Amino acid sequence: MFTPDDLDFDRQHIWHPYTSMRDPLPCYPVVAAQGCQLQLADGRELVDGMSSWWAAIHGYNHPRLNQALQQQMAQMSHVMFGGITHPAAVALSRQLVAMTPEALECVFLADSGSIAVEVAMKMALQYWLGRGERRQTFLTLKRGYHGDTFAAMAVCDPENSMHSLWRGYLPEHLFAAAPQCGFTDTWDDADFSDFARLAEQHHRDIAAVILEPIVQGAGGMRFYHPRYLQQVRALCDRYGLLLIADEIATGFGRSGKLFACEHAGVTPDILCLGKALTGGMMTLAATLTTREVADTISRSAAGCFMHGPTFMGNPLACAVAAESLAMVAEGEWQTQVAAIEQQLQRELLPLQLHPAVAQARVLGAIGVIETHQPVNMAALQQFFVERGVWIRPFGRLIYLMPPYLISAQALSQLTRAIRDALDHAGHFQP
Ligand code: PMP
Repeated sequence: MFTPDDLDFDRQHIWHPYTSMRDPLPCYPVVAAQGCQLQLADGRELVDGMSSWWAAIHGYNHPRLNQALQQQMAQMSHVMFGGITHPAAVALSRQLVAMTPEALECVFLADSGSIAVEVAMKMALQYWLGRGERRQTFLTLKRGYHGDTFAAMAVCDPENSMHSLWRGYLPEHLFAAAPQCGFTDTWDDADFSDFARLAEQHHRDIAAVILEPIVQGAGGMRFYHPRYLQQVRALCDRYGLLLIADEIATGFGRSGKLFACEHAGVTPDILCLGKALTGGMMTLAATLTTREVADTISRSAAGCFMHGPTFMGNPLACAVAAESLAMVAEGEWQTQVAAIEQQLQRELLPLQLHPAVAQARVLGAIGVIETHQPVNMAALQQFFVERGVWIRPFGRLIYLMPPYLISAQALSQLTRAIRDALDHAGHFQP
């Protein structure tokens, strides 16, 4: 089924995320996935601690999602969205409008998270054109991550996404110091001063603020204080700036709230969703905005919103997403995520005392061990696979975000593997 020759072909010819073609890190062939388990080609089973990068919240091979896909496939897999609509897109968009804050009522269906961000940024640019101004600067946070396409990358942390590589090509935006006050720390107003200074100095040029609410994901797995987000919203209101919340990673319960903005009681003007939108079955994202923003965009010289990809509103993806959201709406995730949070607190937070650990932190169904030294990715990955778990560390971060239906026993297998991994000096770069 999967031969050593296939693995060799993969190594020679196929790019994986952020890998070198000259000297790629090893890849592990997965041939099946079920619930919280990934099955390797050699028959070994791994407990999944990653939900395929925040996406597979209901676990793998879920019968309800499979059925939704099969039913839609029997009707129609795809049809263009220009001049045509279909039941799956309408059902999904109804659910999105109902689930998100009341003000967000206009839905753009995009192909992936990065595209949802591109769409959000383009909406902000066109909004200002509609108001007769050409505003092209975005204010964002250091340590943020918003995707790999160029507009999205331009608002990612300048160091992590190597803006120096693209100098002269990427537009230059404004970066406020990353929030330092953690989610549960005592709030310190000084944490907001850099953001406030930039907003005050540049607000006449700023089209929008874009940020990941509460959880900065790929830029460091950091959980910041809700007051920070409240103050961002207040400044956006004061200066009339749009607030774009990128909830592509946090959306649909991961942080313990349906949307992370709820921790701060804040409503954005534009909201990006993706990843768990389809329960991780296939790629789909959405950008929602207010009637006012949508109307203003339509007043720009273009007269319409200038975006319309080929696979927009793909019926298969919409049908699966609609079913995934129906499962989210049933609400079981709330008890599941709360139980995961408590268990992660019990099992990961004590690791804070380990000499290799700089900080342990938990929020919702996200557990993070930040180490002093960067991990030796290949060695650590191999150790985890030998321990029967799938955990993909990066930089100085070993983290868990399992599917919500994980059992307490399987979750302990993940946390024990992390605990034991910390004891081997060879798992870290010197
Ligand atoms: N925004 C955030 C917050 C993300 O975590 C990601 C993906 N890691 C993206 C945007 C980009 O999504 P995609 O990889 O689907 O393009």
